[in-house]
Parts: sequence; structure tokens; C-alpha cells
Amino acid sequence: MKPWIEADVIVLGGGIVGASAALALARRGRSVVLLERDFCGSHSSGVNYGGVRRQGRPLHQLPLSQRAHEIWSELPELIGIDGEYVRSGHLKLARSHADLGALRTYADASRGFGLGLQLLDRSALRARFPWVGDVAVGASFCPDDGHANPRLVSPAFARAAKWQGAQVIEQAGTSSVEHDGQRFLVNTSNGVQVRAPWLLNCAGAWAANLAAQFGEPVPMESRHPAMLVTEPLPLVMDASTGVEGGGIYARQVARGNCVLGGGRGFALDANRARPGQAAVLEILRNAVELYPFLAGAQAIRTWSGTEGYLPDGEPVIGPSSTQPGLLHGFGFAGAGFQIGPAVGEALAELVCEGKSQQPIEAFSIRRFQVAQDRQSIA
Ligand SMILES: Cc1cc2nc3c(=O)[nH]c(=O)nc-3n(C[C@H](O)[C@H](O)[C@H](O)COP(=O)(O)OP(=O)(O)OC[C@H]3O[C@@H](n4cnc5c(N)ncnc54)[C@H](O)[C@@H]3O)c2cc1C
Repeated sequence: MKPWIEADVIVLGGGIVGASAALALARRGRSVVLLERDFCGSHSSGVNYGGVRRQGRPLHQLPLSQRAHEIWSELPELIGIDGEYVRSGHLKLARSHADLGALRTYADASRGFGLGLQLLDRSALRARFPWVGDVAVGASFCPDDGHANPRLVSPAFARAAKWQGAQVIEQAGTSSVEHDGQRFLVNTSNGVQVRAPWLLNCAGAWAANLAAQFGEPVPMESRHPAMLVTEPLPLVMDASTGVEGGGIYARQVARGNCVLGGGRGFALDANRARPGQAAVLEILRNAVELYPFLAGAQAIRTWSGTEGYLPDGEPVIGPSSTQPGLLHGFGFAGAGFQIGPAVGEALAELVCEGKSQQPIEAFSIRRFQVAQDRQSIA
């Protein structure tokens, strides 16, 4: 066995949330050890669609999402690359007048959060985005949302944490996690032993195991959004898009490839996912209706990833309800890439300042405890 590494904070999981937390902690002068079972950014954070979107989030996520929006604008200074981040705008399409009404309701409710949403009726949509198919009756446009390359951005957060002094140890899954009354004692499968008074549970779709170990089980399930990318095409799409009610999203990168997502793939095993033929065919069918210029385009790669979903679709962010020193940040339900850097910062603030600048009470793990208590009374 190697000697114990002493640290202020252990972060479990090198996705965008854990790596952002490690970076924010190291920048605040804390000694941090980031343990990643595989490679940093090799799961959801590195394989997602790349949507950097505030539009459509539940209102209580918007303060964190707005903070993340500021962090995204500082990527080159923060992580050394721009990660192909562009503020292309995010166009949310409506396929019916009821859906357009829902977009209008959201625009009214989110006014005051700084999204600057613009509602477009059919003719305004055609005039501004002529590449959208006739099936869309209108849209809501968020001019400063955008997209980025997750494969570049997420590992770069971990690299930046390392530059700031964090120890980043990959291929180091945990074999045991204990608390001796003062500190967490973590052993990894490759013989690393780390001790620290703080432990951040940023283990993505696998984070419920640790929560359960500390007496706070959560009903999280894994899902696997399906993705595909086309061959390079003439540049047409000048915004990242989604659809009210879900089902499909698409963007085009500077090299011409269109990245599309939607539907659900399946798990090959606990760690690997595949998009599945049915979901890919569904994306292609929807795509031709909404983006007619894609007719006949060749898909050159399909993939999926593993993401954690809680029943209310909200993440868990904040202190454990049972174990002092344990903080959670997981369960982002297909929307943690944009918000991840602000979640990492909030976790670092909890460690260093005792509270987060942004409101996070709505994401407490206690909400599941309350639900379980109600069930056991009934
Ligand atoms: C296909 C797909 C498309 C998506 N599209 C978008 C999008 O467009 N926009 C958006 O905002 N979000 C999107 N998301 C969601 C987003 O990718 C995730 O919410 C976000 O990446 C979650 O980050 P994370 O750090 O919590 O998890 P992860 O990236 O999954 O990182 C968790 C890490 O913990 C590690 N780990 C697990 N257990 C242990 C252990 N015991 N010890 C050490 N390490 C451990 C894992 O190996 C993993 O690397 C999408 C997700 C998927 C799958």
C-alpha cells in the first residue's frame, strides 16, 4: 500500500462537476485530491450533445445557470482553451400553437432572470431562420445561449485543476470509503489512500451508491440519450436548437458536421451505453421534418452516455443530511454540462465559506428523506 495522502478535500468523480469543484477549491488555496475511476471527462461530461443552454431550465436553476453563463465566458482564462464555445443563440421550436403558448408562458415566468428571450411567430421564424422546416409554427430564441465541444471542455477543467495544484488521479475507482469520526478515509482500486475532512460526491450516475452508504438513499436511475453526428455539410444552422416537449435537438459545428440528439439508448452494462437503432431512426425521422436541409445527409457516428435522473428531474446539490463534511453534486438529468462549472463553484464555496453564493436549497438531498418519511407514515 502507498502512504496516506493528506488533503483538505477529496473529490470523487472527474466529470465537469467534480473537475470544476477541484479547480475552484485549488484556486482558493485548498489541497485537493480528485479521484476518477476512468479518465476525466470520459463519461457524460465528455460525450454529451454540447448544449450550453439556460433557456428551458426550471426557474430555481436559473441563478446557478446564470452564474455558469458568466464562467463560460471566461473559459480561455480559466481552463486555457475556448472549448469551441460559441454564443450562437438557442432556438426552441414549437410544433403546435399549444407548444408556442408554453414557450410564451416560460418567457413570461423567466423574465427578470436575464435570458432576454425573443418570441418568434411563424413569419418571424421563417425570416430569421429560413432553414427551419414548415412543421415549426414559431419559436423562442435565447440570443446568448450556445454550444461547445464537451470532449475538449470537460477534460480541460481537470487539467486546469492540476495546473492550480490539485492532485488528479485517474483510473482510481474507490474500493472503500469510511469516516473515522474526523476524516474520510478513501482507498482506491489501484492502492491510493487519501484522508481528508471533506468529501465531494460528484460521481455522476453512480453517485447514489455513496449517498446510500451514508444512510441517504435516493431513487436515481440511469438513462442514455442517443446522439449522432453527420458528415460535414455546408454551413446552414446559425443557432443551437431544441423543441418544446423534447424529442430532438441539433447544432452545427464550424467544420460543418451537424450534431443531433434525442430519444433514449440503452445500457450495455453499468458503465457503457449504446444509442440503439430505434432512437437513431427516430432522430433521423424528426430531423428531416424540422431541418429539411439534412435530407440525405450521412450519419458518420452514433453514441450515447450514462446520466443520472432523479424522479423530479432536479439534481442533488449541497450538504449530506447525515454526514458532516460530505457534499453531493449529482443527478443532472441530461442538463448538467452548462450548469456544471457553477455547481463546482458552489460546492467549493460550501467548503471554504460555509455557504453558496447562489441559492441551492431546492436541490437538497433532504427532499427524498421527506418523501420517504411520508411514505412510511402512509
Ligand atoms: C448523451 C448526453 C447528452 C447530453 N447533452 C447535454 C447538453 O447538451 N447540455 C447539458 O447541459 N447537459 C447535457 N447532458 C448532461 C451532462 O452531460 C451531465 O449532466 C453532466 O456531464 C454531468 O456531469 P457529472 O460531472 O455530474 O457526471 P459525469 O460526467 O458522469 O462524471 C462523473 C464521473 O465520476 C466517475 N466515478 C463514478 N464513480 C466513481 C468512484 N466510485 N470513484 C471515482 N470516480 C467515480 C465516473 O467515472 C465519471 O467520470 C447530456 C448527457 C448525455 C449522456
